[in-house]
Amino acid sequence: MNKESDQQTLSQQIRLEEIRLLYGGTPFSYTAAITIAIIIYLVLDGHVASQLNLDIWLATILGVMLIRSLDSFLFSRQSIESQKQQHWRTRFFYGTGIAGFCWGLLPWLGYSPEVEYFAFIIVCLVGVISGSLSTLSYRWETMALFLLPASLMLVFRLLLEGQTFSNATSVVLGVFIFFSMSAGKRVFNNTQQNIRLRIEADNRERAIELMHQKQALHLQNTPLAIIEFDIDFTISEWNKAAEDIFGYSREEALGENIMRLILTRDSSSEAERLWERLLNYEAIIGTVIENKTRGGGSITCEWFITPLTGDNNQIVGIAAMALDITEKRQNELAILKSKEEAVKANQAKSDFLSSMSHELRTPLNAILGFTQLLKYEKTLSEKQQSHVAEISSAGNLLLELVNQILDLARIEKGHLQLSIEKVNLSDVFTECRSMILPLAEKNHLKVNIETSIDGYVTADYTRLKQVMLNLLSNAIKYNVKNGSVSLKVKQHDRGIVRISIIDTGIGISKEQLKEIFQPFNRLNAACNIEGTGIGLSISKQLIEMMQGTIGVSSVINEGSEFWIELDGSLARPDSTGEEAVDDDTPGDLKVNGNGRRILVAEDNPTNQTLILNQLEALGYKADLVANGKEALKQMTDTDYQLLITDCNMPLIDGYRLARTIRERGNHDLPIIALTADAFPEKKNDCLSAGMNDQITKPVDLDTLRGTLEKYLS
Ligand code: ADP
Repeated sequence: MNKESDQQTLSQQIRLEEIRLLYGGTPFSYTAAITIAIIIYLVLDGHVASQLNLDIWLATILGVMLIRSLDSFLFSRQSIESQKQQHWRTRFFYGTGIAGFCWGLLPWLGYSPEVEYFAFIIVCLVGVISGSLSTLSYRWETMALFLLPASLMLVFRLLLEGQTFSNATSVVLGVFIFFSMSAGKRVFNNTQQNIRLRIEADNRERAIELMHQKQALHLQNTPLAIIEFDIDFTISEWNKAAEDIFGYSREEALGENIMRLILTRDSSSEAERLWERLLNYEAIIGTVIENKTRGGGSITCEWFITPLTGDNNQIVGIAAMALDITEKRQNELAILKSKEEAVKANQAKSDFLSSMSHELRTPLNAILGFTQLLKYEKTLSEKQQSHVAEISSAGNLLLELVNQILDLARIEKGHLQLSIEKVNLSDVFTECRSMILPLAEKNHLKVNIETSIDGYVTADYTRLKQVMLNLLSNAIKYNVKNGSVSLKVKQHDRGIVRISIIDTGIGISKEQLKEIFQPFNRLNAACNIEGTGIGLSISKQLIEMMQGTIGVSSVINEGSEFWIELDGSLARPDSTGEEAVDDDTPGDLKVNGNGRRILVAEDNPTNQTLILNQLEALGYKADLVANGKEALKQMTDTDYQLLITDCNMPLIDGYRLARTIRERGNHDLPIIALTADAFPEKKNDCLSAGMNDQITKPVDLDTLRGTLEKYLS
């Protein structure tokens, strides 16, 4: 399409050029024609058959010449656009035809009976015809229109004579016409070709010039510094952007050594390496170099450098473009720095949270441990028992907070490991039901949990239970009197199981729903319901770690539905019955110690008292030492059936103590670690030091009893 329109434009240009050349030749050819006509008239004057006819001929030819001259004058005054119009060609063609006819009239109107004068007419006409070829051959048709009437009318006149001489002359003239026409055609073809070539060359030149102009404009306005230098590093090109970036004007920079001008000392070795690559004809793309400016400032530039080669493929210079990226670099560095700082701050926060929760465990151990002992004290009044219950509940809430903070910190640090497996829904539901029933009863709520479910989900058993207990206890806490809590499960989508916990409670507003999974977001903090505000945030992170999703829908004053979606299936027929509800009423604690002695290694005085009291309450006899060194000594004097040891103690800690006992060949003594760290890694440390088990502080009496029975039975 483009090629076609290019061709069209080219032929238009050629036609314009033709008509301009045709009209352009008229001043000379018309002057010559008028002169020749007058001379012919003067020569023939008095020698013609009819003087009147000769006068008419002269008047006619001069009239035609005059009109044509006027036409030429008008053409020369036109704009290029109007010269392109077709009517100028038509007018010129008509004019030429008429002029040819007028010259053809000469042998008829200017006929001379004297042979030499008639021969003169022939010579003059042949001359005029020959002369016209040079000015009319720009267009083949114009040549024919002039030449044919002028020559053929002469030929006819000669044939009319009917003499040998005139017949012969007419034949010669015929041959002359034929050769003139074919010569004219050749001239026309060549002229056409020349015009075409010249126009094409002109067009090319104009396009190149336009391109140069555009390039110059681009070079001038681009934000890229464009620099050229030869192999001696002498600058030969320096655009406006180079002036702006490096501070040197074009005049100052041209002829200077580029290395000295803008290269910093620190970058010189890098520049040498780049130079080596350029000498190997390698283009350099996007290399970042530190440069200096006229004012001595340091800037960072990104360079694109190409070697320029000469005729014999020798490198003759270098073309380089540079972009000032100082600001971009600084921004990137600032972003990187603030990112690092944010990561550090987050790390510090997580460290702080985990160490704080660890530190809190030691005093909590004493509070919860002694409270639990007090619960079994028969001498306390009812009022005192209720105070003890308050302390126990507050302590447990604090412990829950500590555990949750610890979880949050571990999730954020990426330290929380999950063990993903197929979890039997019936098992989790049964356990959860039995754990929340007492709370629900206390709040007078109906609990609908179907525990015989055939199905499984892909999850971490303990953590799924943790999430469900959190959702269930929320459904109880944020419920209304005589309300209900239901647990429903359904195959939501192919391979996805949805567990829903539905309550008839106070509900959550639309605005609050948006931020419900944010940590420390206690929407109902004002209504005196105990809570920490991080349970849902942990639940969300845990479920996402199990590749599941958690969500909520709620209507204020009607209730809420919290749901979890996990990979799984309800198709597996596998169900267990419901578990009996745990009774929290304190009974008889004492077990039959059978005189078995326990050694306790603990350095903290409060914890010492607590563990001794706990062991006594459970019916065990125990000796106490304050560190590992004392424990080793004590064990040489007395035979013990079990060792309970704190992990962090002075002189010899719990780990070294266990390791030494095992190294001395005592592999039978059960060693139980007491640790304030709830991390599973800690348990591994204990086991690899040679201990048998680990109890996490705060020490729960039931856990302690269970563990001791396990190792002493
Ligand atoms: P909390 O320890 O405060 O219960 P969560 O993270 O478990 O912390 O819950 C965050 C907040 O979301 C709660 O303080 C409560 O305002 C709101 N919430 C959670 N579950 C429910 C529910 N079932 N009904 C109404 N509000 C709820």
